[in-house]
Amino acid sequence: MAEVLVYVDHVDGAVRKPTLELLTLARRIGEPVAVHLGAGADTAVATLAEHGAVKVLAADAPEFAEYLVAPKVDALQAAYEAVSPVAVLLPSSAEGKEIGARLAVRIGSGIITDAVDLEAGDEGPVATQSVFAASFTTKSRVTTGTPVITVKPNSAAPEAAPAAGQVEQLAVTVADSSKGTKIVSRTPRESTGRPELTEAAIVVSGGRGVNGAENFPVIEALADSLGAAVGASRAAVDAGWYPHTNQVGQTGKSVSPQLYIAAGISGAIQHRAGMQTSKTIVAINKDAEAPIFDLVDYGVVGDLFNVVPALTEEVKTRKG
Ligand SMILES: Cc1cc2nc3c(=O)[nH]c(=O)nc-3n(C[C@H](O)[C@H](O)[C@H](O)COP(=O)(O)OP(=O)(O)OC[C@H]3O[C@@H](n4cnc5c(N)ncnc54)[C@H](O)[C@@H]3O)c2cc1C
Repeated sequence: MAEVLVYVDHVDGAVRKPTLELLTLARRIGEPVAVHLGAGADTAVATLAEHGAVKVLAADAPEFAEYLVAPKVDALQAAYEAVSPVAVLLPSSAEGKEIGARLAVRIGSGIITDAVDLEAGDEGPVATQSVFAASFTTKSRVTTGTPVITVKPNSAAPEAAPAAGQVEQLAVTVADSSKGTKIVSRTPRESTGRPELTEAAIVVSGGRGVNGAENFPVIEALADSLGAAVGASRAAVDAGWYPHTNQVGQTGKSVSPQLYIAAGISGAIQHRAGMQTSKTIVAINKDAEAPIFDLVDYGVVGDLFNVVPALTEEVKTRKG
């Protein structure tokens, strides 16, 4: 059966959920072969095999950590040449998209980014994208070379499908031209204990209606009751109420959770661009005419300072 390369996103071998989603989607096209770069392959292999990786190509080199993405592209290209896959899948993170784009240029292939679904087709994999601020859904196929496709987090539910997960060492030569940008320092971001915004299954976002940084704990409390990430509209971010890293939208992050709750957000097209593919959308807004109500599954017309705390209490009560 044809093999599909899946680039593994991990932290020291702890495989992140978007990779499990990629393995699930890859099985629709062929046999997943995981490419694990950096330390921790021994830890990762069990999870990768459990989710369908027939093989794990592993490589570790100090250059992966010392330079920006180019050495990883060298490694993925080596995997591509070793396997001759029918497709290469990567997560739609900033890094995943850059690695995918560079690989596509090197191997002369077309690339599709930010796919939200993937299926097998007679002439190669067909990717679904949500485009033009999510106003259209398109289906596309790469017509030149081996398709390189990046897939947004939360596009599929990870399914276990145990496979061999046979580990093979991948020989990688890092080219001098891949050492053009050295990482000179790293500062870990202070952890909030909440899930990563782009990967979270639930996101609770606040907008201008939150009316001040001092009120964002109302949003955070609902998020914490649900185990959710916190998002913010640009209006809230520009006002300095919440960090830019939490901005959802065209010039912020693109999220596609199972549940998106927007509180005090009007639903401008630039905000919708970053959240419209969420599976279930709930809005709380005191203006019944707010455009956000055009796209919601459930809408509450009301003051968020009454509705959100009541919702938080109800969630806590039901969770016991
Ligand atoms: C090039 C460009 C890029 C942009 N990129 C982004 C982006 O990435 N993300 C983004 O979000 N925006 C983006 N914007 C800005 C966007 O156009 C809107 O200005 C912004 O999304 C508005 O944010 P908001 O909904 O929080 O504020 P508003 O539009 O002011 O809406 C606030 C809402 O809160 C409601 N409200 C007020 N008080 C309460 C209350 N007590 N209870 C309940 N509801 C209440 C109001 O009825 C209103 O609907 C971009 C704009 C441009 C031009």
